[in-house]
Amino acid sequence: MTTLPYLKFAGPVLDAATIDGVAEVLRSGQLTSGPWVKEFEAALSAFCEGRPVRVLTSATAAIEVALQLCGIGPGDEVITSAQSFFTVLNMIAKVGAKPVFVDCDLVTRNIDLTAVEAAITPRTRAIMPTHWPGSLVDMDALHALARRHRLRVIEDAALVIGSRWNGRNVGAFGDLVTFSFHPNKNITSIEGGALVVNDDGEAARVDPLRFHGITYLPDSTRDVAFPGGKFNLPDVNARIGVAQLARLPEFLAQRRALADRYFARFSSDPACALPPLPAAAGDDGQSWNMWSVLLPLSRMTLTRRAFRAAMEARGIGTGVSYEALHLCTLGRSYGYKDGAFPATERIARETVTLPLHPAMALADVDRVCSAVAEIIVPARP
Ligand SMILES: *Cc1c(COP(=O)(O)O)cnc(C)c1O
Repeated sequence: MTTLPYLKFAGPVLDAATIDGVAEVLRSGQLTSGPWVKEFEAALSAFCEGRPVRVLTSATAAIEVALQLCGIGPGDEVITSAQSFFTVLNMIAKVGAKPVFVDCDLVTRNIDLTAVEAAITPRTRAIMPTHWPGSLVDMDALHALARRHRLRVIEDAALVIGSRWNGRNVGAFGDLVTFSFHPNKNITSIEGGALVVNDDGEAARVDPLRFHGITYLPDSTRDVAFPGGKFNLPDVNARIGVAQLARLPEFLAQRRALADRYFARFSSDPACALPPLPAAAGDDGQSWNMWSVLLPLSRMTLTRRAFRAAMEARGIGTGVSYEALHLCTLGRSYGYKDGAFPATERIARETVTLPLHPAMALADVDRVCSAVAEIIVPARP
């Protein structure tokens, strides 16, 4: 029905120089734990104003290691938003702690800090907020709250590398910060992630957590004192990450231009609920990893599933970000029920992620918006 190429909802831009660079690493014989890992970590550290950074095989690994670094385990509680990706629930549960969910803001989708404060108990050890494209949670209020209650903060910044708060990069300040370099994120190392820590002492403790639990004895033999994981990033991936980080400003500019186009096209019709409007024209420090809207389902005859199928039939991919964590089987196993978090649940029912990635042109946004209007407008009762 369409001759236009298929439009994915997310994806990376990989240039020829990067691909050549990967071939060089493959020929070099140093495939893992080599110079490109050090180089990627140094570049990320510079990006984070010199804070130590360790790269790992995913953000999921980085979050698991961050929880272990804080000594969080059985008997501990971690407060997190129910509107996030499965990773946060999974890793809190995996280390044996209890996920304590709170609701999010309906528009920004960020964690509700008032609800966080109300959920603090003597067992609370950490707050784990997920940052959303187009908006960061109030970072000053978040860290003040954590300091007041002596809690660790593990920021899930998987979606927002390149976002800034008061002119500073996410990762350059705060406590522990995790990034993802999955192909759908702002930069990619194919699979990969990073953990930003506070000082060299913490960084040294990350090393055994990501590599077999190994520490080195004075006679250069090895010891293992606790069961460490195996999360070290190969040099092949780090080589891609170094090239991607250098292009981050350019990727962000294109993402911003595409988001601006979406705002302009959606301003009149169809009546979807949009992400938070940029604070001002130009660069307001927000990165646009995704364009997720809420469909006006109560005023449509179509279901979301039918809407997505109609988009797919027009060669346009869509996503769902995200299901409600407290209502998945694992979330419910902690006693959570329907109706607990109205904003999270409404987003989970109505959200759809439309294509936004730096390989797209403005005309692709127009194509998506025309398709959305074509599908939604006739579906009104
Ligand atoms: C992608 C994503 C993750 C997981 O990242 P991986 O690198 O794939 O482990 C975690 N949290 C959020 C919000 C994400 O979007």
